[in-house]
Amino acid sequence: MLEHDVIIVGGGLAGLRAAIEASALVDTAVISRVHPLRSHTKAAQGGINAALANAEKGRDDTPEKHAFDTIKGSDFLADQDAAELMTRMAPECVFEFDHWGCAFSRTDEGKIAQRPFGGAGYPRTCYGSDRTGLYLLQTVYEQSVKRNIKEYQEYFVTSLITDDLSCKGVIAINIKTGELVPITAKATILATGGAAWTYSISTNSMINTGNGMTIAYRAGVPLKDMEFIQFHPTGLYPNGILITEGARGEGGYLVNAKGERFMERYAPKAMELAPRDIVSRSIQKEIDEGRAFENAYVHLDLRHLGREKIMSRLPGIREICLLFAGLDPIEKPIPIRPAAHYTMGGIDCNPDCEAPLKGLYAAGECACVSVHGANRLGGNSLLDCVVFGKVAGGKAAKFAKSATRETDESLVQSSLGREQKRVEALQSGSGTEEPTALRDDVRLILTQKVGMFRSGTDLEEALKQVRKLRERFSRLRPIDVDKVFNLDLIRTFEVEAMLELAEIITASALARKESRGAHVRLDFPQRDDEHFLKHTLAHYTPTGPKLDYSNVKITRYQPEARKY
Ligand SMILES: Cc1cc2nc3c(=O)[nH]c(=O)nc-3n(C[C@H](O)[C@H](O)[C@H](O)COP(=O)(O)OP(=O)(O)OC[C@H]3O[C@@H](n4cnc5c(N)ncnc54)[C@H](O)[C@@H]3O)c2cc1C
Repeated sequence: MLEHDVIIVGGGLAGLRAAIEASALVDTAVISRVHPLRSHTKAAQGGINAALANAEKGRDDTPEKHAFDTIKGSDFLADQDAAELMTRMAPECVFEFDHWGCAFSRTDEGKIAQRPFGGAGYPRTCYGSDRTGLYLLQTVYEQSVKRNIKEYQEYFVTSLITDDLSCKGVIAINIKTGELVPITAKATILATGGAAWTYSISTNSMINTGNGMTIAYRAGVPLKDMEFIQFHPTGLYPNGILITEGARGEGGYLVNAKGERFMERYAPKAMELAPRDIVSRSIQKEIDEGRAFENAYVHLDLRHLGREKIMSRLPGIREICLLFAGLDPIEKPIPIRPAAHYTMGGIDCNPDCEAPLKGLYAAGECACVSVHGANRLGGNSLLDCVVFGKVAGGKAAKFAKSATRETDESLVQSSLGREQKRVEALQSGSGTEEPTALRDDVRLILTQKVGMFRSGTDLEEALKQVRKLRERFSRLRPIDVDKVFNLDLIRTFEVEAMLELAEIITASALARKESRGAHVRLDFPQRDDEHFLKHTLAHYTPTGPKLDYSNVKITRYQPEARKY
């Protein structure tokens, strides 16, 4: 039997940061479906926020100002105690990475360089050119290797082992051998990343299917605020590859087919550096109202920044443009349109990262603490990972240290048996439905009907269509029985999770009859604090999600109109 004090599902930034913290106290292991350095964190480009006050125009920045920007950016749905905790811990957490040797870019004085990002009053986004995620991930991986933290690479977790009261570990498929294995622990941390690949136009890689969220959901833990999906303003046209907000932070312009810097109409003060929900909607409006190129995209123009700045601050963006669009941003503007990017919602947990199931914790993009509310500010997600990864690791280790390790053999065997039956049922299917076809359909439905602008009619139609897809999932063709690297099986688990999440996202969006942050209802265009200043909680039932609500924590910032 594989047994540890703390296990962490996820080898991305949140998971590895948690592992470093937990391993200082107790025996810790990380389980990851891919090599940790292939986790999606490596794709993060623009930077990580902390009020270091290093930039010339940001000398009077403070964690309190960072907290206010975060809460205003969230359209007042963030829990303010959590946002204050995150922004207070931000400087120490970034310095920790600096001391571990993370390759941050530098100011002329040798301090960590900071650039302006959307919705922020000061330049507070610390960066390593446009490869910040990669550098943070390399740093934290190196630290985990140094500490000899046990890793289960290429293990795909399918469910939690739970009794009525608590979480006792996980069941995983060893992808290399096909074997189903229980890994038990006194505390389990989920750090499985986001779900924005459930949309067909997305900046995410194809492992971001949100399957970790549904693992918690099916064990009875609610998913919080899942209707809030962030659309990043600048996905490369047509494939959606991200062009970092750092490009606008460095001074890039958004221009329509009439040659106008159209943000003047929507956010005259902040212009291109308004928060993402506002910039994305503005771009989509330009497209919908006929002021876009080929009725499909607008331009992100970097040419005026000059070769030197582009080569030193945005070399990765230039490479992406050369490789995927066949153009050099030093000479030509970049065609862009919004793309699904980030899941503000996730596994319900408190600022100690505790989920409402004893022994279970969550951190990073799969979790909803909630610090991002209805709209995340750029640069706050990597921060969320390092702050709440550290918190989750510390809290889980403390809990594990005080708990006794008693393995309930019959519970483990019954959990294993349940997962074995699940696999066998998929492999002995007698239907004809193709899982990847259901996957492609659900991604399209979400993009077309649960996108940036939503309506009751579209959402009801989407819910009907998603439920039909779930029905069709019960009539799958037989899934491959191969043992070694059976990706057909893994993909089918993912499709099941995507269908489940699509239903949760749509049902939560239908029930929220207001517009707030990234959730815009054309039939309810105003924010409605009286009825909806609250978190949505989606609970598992065998017939679909059951919704209820919880209060938002307000400390000192009363909700006000957002103007930029
Ligand atoms: C292109 C792009 C650029 C971005 N740029 C920025 C930026 O500049 N600044 C910023 O703040 N944010 C940025 N973000 C957001 C940020 O990068 C992510 O939110 C963050 O990196 C998520 O980290 P994580 O540790 O939660 O998850 P990930 O890094 O996605 O890691 C998830 C881990 O979970 C594992 N896993 C998942 N499911 C299972 C399973 N069932 N069994 C076993 N293992 C599993 C995976 O193997 C992986 O190791 C960007 C996002 C994208 C898509």
